[in-house]
Amino acid sequence: MILLAAPGLDPAVKILVETLTSAPADLSFETDAGFWQLLSGSSSSLPQALERPFEVKVAAHQMGSDVYFEGGVIGSLSLECARCLARYGHVLDEPFRLVLEPAGDRVPPDPEAATALARDGICLGDELETGWYRGNEIDLSNSVLEVVALALPVKPLCSEECRGLCPHCGVDLNDRPCKCSTLKSDSPFAALAKLRDGFDEDSPGGS
Ligand SMILES: [Zn+2]
Ligand SMILES: [Zn+2]
Repeated sequence: MILLAAPGLDPAVKILVETLTSAPADLSFETDAGFWQLLSGSSSSLPQALERPFEVKVAAHQMGSDVYFEGGVIGSLSLECARCLARYGHVLDEPFRLVLEPAGDRVPPDPEAATALARDGICLGDELETGWYRGNEIDLSNSVLEVVALALPVKPLCSEECRGLCPHCGVDLNDRPCKCSTLKSDSPFAALAKLRDGFDEDSPGGS
């Protein structure tokens, strides 16, 4: 196990090609909040707040001139639940794999990929699992960003069972039930609640 720390203002999950052999090496990178802020700063759609900074684990090896990475991004983002609006720690444990071949003299047709190849020593194809590398140093930082961005939930939930807020009185239904929602909603929960309350509200038709 080789531990390469990425210090606060120098985000880096960097792998030196010359250290790779045909036997997979287990690499582990501890990043910090500063790493994520720098990385995600350019994107307004990515959450900035972390509960736990990302750890990147990579098994890396080389076969011929191709390099193989297989690993995972582990950490926890601070997200807002779409139902109850409470902030919660959204744990990510996302696997990834990359197979890279030397770029040689080739130039990627996509300008963004060309920039990435020059800056990070790596650019990926459309399917995101294969790509090219150039030089001796491969910076996986932006690949980490990509992995996290793809793993973000469209609708964050603090728990699958989250009951959310009552649309009428705003009570957090995880804490306690409220009568308005049980009377006006046609959800199965409301029907159950009506039975439980014995129709004591006595409003024909509900309203
Ligand atoms: Zn919730
Ligand atoms: Zn209510």
